[in-house]
Amino acid sequence: MAESALQTRLRERLARINERIHRACARAGRSPANVTLVAVTKTVPADVAALLPDLGVTDLGESRPQELWHKAASVPAAVHWHLIGHLQRNKVERTLPLVRLIHSVDSWRLLEALDAAAANRTGPVDVLLEVNASGEAAKHGFAPGELDRTAQRLKGLDRVRVRGLMTMAAYEAKPERCRTTFVTLRELRDRLKATLPPPHDLAHLSMGMSNDFEVAVEEEATFVRIGTALFDGLVS
Ligand SMILES: *Cc1c(COP(=O)(O)O)cnc(C)c1O
Repeated sequence: MAESALQTRLRERLARINERIHRACARAGRSPANVTLVAVTKTVPADVAALLPDLGVTDLGESRPQELWHKAASVPAAVHWHLIGHLQRNKVERTLPLVRLIHSVDSWRLLEALDAAAANRTGPVDVLLEVNASGEAAKHGFAPGELDRTAQRLKGLDRVRVRGLMTMAAYEAKPERCRTTFVTLRELRDRLKATLPPPHDLAHLSMGMSNDFEVAVEEEATFVRIGTALFDGLVS
């Protein structure tokens, strides 16, 4: 079957994004194999999201749980779903079986709810702790100063596995100005790594969006979450 115009344009967008990730890796002496592109599908319908696996993108992200439920039901099962936005506790039960990783765990109460919900499944729940590293009042996430205490308390939960940290930088016209936020997240991660014993592993840094992902990759992002650069203008 001939590729649709939309598929062709998506393929071109992806090639450009991957090229930029590769260049940022080269500048930082990193392997591109250690950076996973999470395609953020929140602005496009499920049938567009469903085109991505054939183009080599199998990690998809949604910021709203209900939207993730909806898309997970209509996109091929080969996809790994990432929840990247606020998760209300009453949506934990339904969301857990659908997601590979929750990037946006932003409170102790949510950690407890995830731990409780994981009682009836095999294997731990993999999460990232969202950190408000830019200090903006409107942002979700743990304050950097709360992380040590959270790490102590995590020793009492045995079904949640912390795989790393996530942040959103403030929007900057000059992406270079996001670098301090990303460096802060990396340093917080390195500190937590020293205090949180296995099975926690803190291998991951989820940081970098369309505007700033190259800087994030230079600062060791392992997940970049990209929506606009991929889809903007392609779907009305
Ligand atoms: C929407 C969203 C993104 C993607 O942002 P773009 O600027 O469109 O690439 C990444 N992370 C989170 C948490 C988001 O809500």
